[in-house]
Amino acid sequence: MLSPDHQKPVTILGAGIIGICTALSLLERGVPVTVIDQGEPGQETSLGNAGVVSPWSIIPQSLPGTWKTIPKLLLGPGRPLSIDPRVMWKMLPWGIRFLLQGRLDKLQATAEAMSHLCGPSIELYQRHLKGTGHETLLRDSMYIHAFRDGTRANLDAIDYRIRAQMGADLELVGSDHLRSYEPELSPEFAAAILIKGQARVLSPGRLSTILADKARKMGATFKRTSIREICKTESGWRVECDGETLAAERVIICLGVWSRAILENLGLSVPLMAERGYHVEFPEPGIEINHSVMDVDAKVVASSMEGGLRIAGQAEFAPIDAPPTKRREKQLIDLATALFPGMELQHNRFWMGRRPSFPDSLPALGPVAGQPGLFVNFGHSHYGLMMAPSSGEKLARALCNERQNINLETFALDRF
Ligand SMILES: Cc1cc2nc3c(=O)[nH]c(=O)nc-3n(C[C@H](O)[C@H](O)[C@H](O)COP(=O)(O)OP(=O)(O)OC[C@H]3O[C@@H](n4cnc5c(N)ncnc54)[C@H](O)[C@@H]3O)c2cc1C
Repeated sequence: MLSPDHQKPVTILGAGIIGICTALSLLERGVPVTVIDQGEPGQETSLGNAGVVSPWSIIPQSLPGTWKTIPKLLLGPGRPLSIDPRVMWKMLPWGIRFLLQGRLDKLQATAEAMSHLCGPSIELYQRHLKGTGHETLLRDSMYIHAFRDGTRANLDAIDYRIRAQMGADLELVGSDHLRSYEPELSPEFAAAILIKGQARVLSPGRLSTILADKARKMGATFKRTSIREICKTESGWRVECDGETLAAERVIICLGVWSRAILENLGLSVPLMAERGYHVEFPEPGIEINHSVMDVDAKVVASSMEGGLRIAGQAEFAPIDAPPTKRREKQLIDLATALFPGMELQHNRFWMGRRPSFPDSLPALGPVAGQPGLFVNFGHSHYGLMMAPSSGEKLARALCNERQNINLETFALDRF
């Protein structure tokens, strides 16, 4: 039985997949929820991702030796990494933190923290989808990490070792075996590491729509308006929106990359960068692939979805509102052809989204120190789709004062 205090209404800022899953976990506990977004639920960053839902994406972006790979990522084929000169000054301290984070002594702890958020993702999505009639949006799958140079497919590499130690079922396969799983994959790929026990979402955009509809049916109010700022009041918070002011007892910031600006108004500065990523989706590719396939060299992930075959990836640090970089479209089309030489390329759709990225690959999750009634759940970078249900569940438990096997201090906003 919840005490009345724990049932105080909650206002969630942002209806991306993080805000929606947080709403569902609170509604399951009988907490009244209002969700505010300027757009339709889940149609920003949460729309265009690669659809990977993995208990084993527990390896941060920065690893020992990552610094050695940066020149090639910036200047090599496909140039998957780029830094816009306009964000260079912000990028410097962020980049130093990022590289320091890749130290061996930090890696295990980060992987454990990530596994708390990725680990239960499949079961929690199954629970959220239950009863919607769209349970098949989530499909069992493997994550195939495909290598052109077979000698680089090494189960002793630190990232695969950590996954295996934490229970992942991994298999190294050669080219024939690989082709039996993905016949359309280019014969250029000599080997792969199969990460088993995963899932993929067949339409991340529709997933958000369906889960938001479920939240509505469970009693959530969705308001469509733009949030300008939030201010502390005697009894809680005031949310200043376009044309209206809303009073809120408890507020959770789930604004993805836009969370930074809202916090700056409160005098709180966080090292959150817009790490832009892209996809090209081919509605009539003429082929189907069976799993999530990563081209490890080019750092792109391919998946067959409801809307066609999607190739997603790239890491572009740039101002939030800068227009998409057009050359990325051609790059992704070239990468798609290199992966699947037999596919049809016409009528493709090009999309750009903004990963909300902290240097340590962990989100900000939990209460904000010194700001009673204010909570955060943002900054999930490359992992937001898979971390969403567990992040929402952990925050709902914290708000309802339930016991849990994790200390949210690891994800505190002021950890930097
Ligand atoms: C190319 C690419 C591939 C990816 N692949 C994967 C993957 O395979 N698996 C995975 O787990 N993750 C993946 N990700 C990451 C994942 O998509 C993100 O981490 C996740 O979508 C972040 O969700 P969010 O709810 O925090 O943010 P968003 O989806 O961006 O939601 C934020 C919401 O806030 C609203 N908003 C912002 N400002 C305001 C305002 N002032 N007023 C009102 N509303 C506002 C927006 O309209 C938006 O709806 C990928 C990302 C990219 C770019």
